[in-house]
Amino acid sequence: MTRDSRFDILFEPIKIGPVTAKNRFYQVPHCNGMGRLYPDSMIAMRGMKAEGGWAIVATEQCDFHPSADVTPFTETKLWADQDISYLAGMCNAVHQHGGLAAVELVHNGQDTGNLYSREVPIGPAHRPVTWHNHPVQARAMDLKDIQDYRRRHRKAALRAKQAGFDMVVVYAGHDGAMPSHFLSSRHNQRTDEYGGSLENRLRFYREILEDTLDAVGDCMGVIARFAVDEMMGADGLEWQHEGRDAIEMMAELPDLWDVNVSNWDNDSMTSRFAVEGYQEDYVAFVKQVTSKPVATVGRYTSPDAMVSAIRRGIVDMIGAARPSIADPFLPKKIEEGRLEDIRECIGCNICAAWSNLSAPSRCTQNPTFGEEWRKGWHPEQVTPKASDSHVLVVGAGPAGLEAAHALGKRGYKVTLAESRKEAGGRVTRESALPSLNAWARVRDYRLGQIAAMDNVQMYFESELGADDILEFGADHIALATGSIWRRDGVGRAVREPLTGANAERSFSPDDIMDGRRPPKGSVVVFDDDHYYMGSVMADLLAGEGYQVTLVTPGLCVGSWTEYTLEQGHIEKRLLDLGVEILPRHCVSAVGDSVIKLVNLVTGEQLERSGTLVPVTMRLPNDQLYESLDTLNARVEDANIKSIRRIGDCYGPATIAAAVYEGHRYARELDAKIDPDGVPFKTVTYDLALGG
Ligand code: ADP
Ligand code: SF4
Repeated sequence: MTRDSRFDILFEPIKIGPVTAKNRFYQVPHCNGMGRLYPDSMIAMRGMKAEGGWAIVATEQCDFHPSADVTPFTETKLWADQDISYLAGMCNAVHQHGGLAAVELVHNGQDTGNLYSREVPIGPAHRPVTWHNHPVQARAMDLKDIQDYRRRHRKAALRAKQAGFDMVVVYAGHDGAMPSHFLSSRHNQRTDEYGGSLENRLRFYREILEDTLDAVGDCMGVIARFAVDEMMGADGLEWQHEGRDAIEMMAELPDLWDVNVSNWDNDSMTSRFAVEGYQEDYVAFVKQVTSKPVATVGRYTSPDAMVSAIRRGIVDMIGAARPSIADPFLPKKIEEGRLEDIRECIGCNICAAWSNLSAPSRCTQNPTFGEEWRKGWHPEQVTPKASDSHVLVVGAGPAGLEAAHALGKRGYKVTLAESRKEAGGRVTRESALPSLNAWARVRDYRLGQIAAMDNVQMYFESELGADDILEFGADHIALATGSIWRRDGVGRAVREPLTGANAERSFSPDDIMDGRRPPKGSVVVFDDDHYYMGSVMADLLAGEGYQVTLVTPGLCVGSWTEYTLEQGHIEKRLLDLGVEILPRHCVSAVGDSVIKLVNLVTGEQLERSGTLVPVTMRLPNDQLYESLDTLNARVEDANIKSIRRIGDCYGPATIAAAVYEGHRYARELDAKIDPDGVPFKTVTYDLALGG
């Protein structure tokens, strides 16, 4: 297939200083929890992006000196010559596929507590460090500190050149780097030439950019990554005022402007809070004030939206982090006219969560992300089938759909049976909840792929029992029958069913998604899940006119969503809707239209009127598995070689986990797996002592 000519503009080369990008796809720097700790994984993941057609592939943040040590986060580092070799590995992987490799040099300044390096943090002013509220202060830099900083940054740029990078990103974004701290009048109240007027506050960034251009600008592209708006009104940088003035003052300095909004929670908003291209309003002015190329992000997954952003003169290059994670082959697929094969990011930020937890990142849509080296999984290729087995997959939620899709791709004959009228399981149901519509992409991508496969048959309204399965004649059975929310309050804080939590007085998320509703009036959402579902229930019911109290044993509503960068957005939305939030409280009993609560700190008892909506935990729908287990002899007679539970039916978890388990099942069918072995490659490091 060839691409549609309306997308040609996306494949026009563009000159960025001394280098030329082969097309308009720029994988902007993004964290991934691999970096310096799992360099092989990081290298293979970045190489995959280049293979998928991204013209520029950048590192995550790369710390360039121990005075800003990012521990406990896992990013790349370029502190010394010994750090060059693994980054050279990344450059090679990117170059092999014709991409340009970019390094993002970062110093987190007053944000980081330097837990590993034990250096005293530095910043424009004396300030307590911000991350984790560590009991540590950053000391105000004097002019010598600024000279030291500039020298170190310059050395790092030279090391990057030695590693083979083609571009340097000089970072002033996310309210998280020294140049942005100097720029902000919130952080910088200096009275010397680096404080006061905008020109003075910008001096630090200008000098770093000039140093970098001077050191490597003859052969490397220099990218200014700059946040033009902090989305906090007059309390922060605004694009109409100092954001614009700053760009105007340095307009022709860098080779490429990579502009966005700040902080990270705003830059990487989930689809629950922002639509594709939402940053355009903030950055549209940039191209009007510079002749240099401009890039921005905005979770672009639609080629038409990308073309439109370029044609309307907003940008020259499409920046992407999450869309490149969900589909490393996005550019190739557009180039080859295979739009229906694009795996669109759903904007859930599971990728960010894993990175924020200092673990190798994973992706809901792309189960191979992070497994490129460790398991040798390629996002577009699978090994052909190893037998002529026929596989019956029961349940077409994310686990069943992905298993059927990947098995079908391997060439197996697959039958997928689903009891409901439609596919998608929990993603279909949850995508009908407020602001979660993008989650349906998990279903739609897989349905689209399966539709093109002759070897995969789908049957709806086909609820299978044990007898049906035994009589069906398949060789392997995958049970992807999902899970169901508990209605009795049991979860982390409550270990025995709550007195009185019966079907009339307690409505689980499944009840609500099935269309059942408590009597009009008040409800108490009991969120002991701490992820999104509690707040989504509160959002839905408040929107329908219920008086909602959200009770949670957590320190705040949806405490786990700190990791997905959503917590602040969620809390604001619920407060705007008039939801009462009671953190550090638990439900103790359920009566007729009254819910008894307890304050977990003081022990104080209190009550709220209304019906309970517990969001606590799910139980696997594994009755089918249990029945088959009791029919051993018949299973043998039916020549069934294996029966496996996958996804929520095996262990209820995230949608990402269900997709992953479905994919893994398909990859491992007919493979010899050591049940006692580590199921992925690991590295043994040479020990300096005693090894
Ligand atoms: P997962 O996240 O593991 O994919 P879901 O709950 O999203 O789980 O999906 C499970 C799917 O399995 C649902 O669509 C449900 O209707 C279907 N299902 C459950 N039991 C059966 C059964 N006995 N026969 C066919 N389909 C079933
Ligand atoms: Fe997109 Fe979610 Fe994948 Fe991140 S984890 S890339 S947000 S689909």
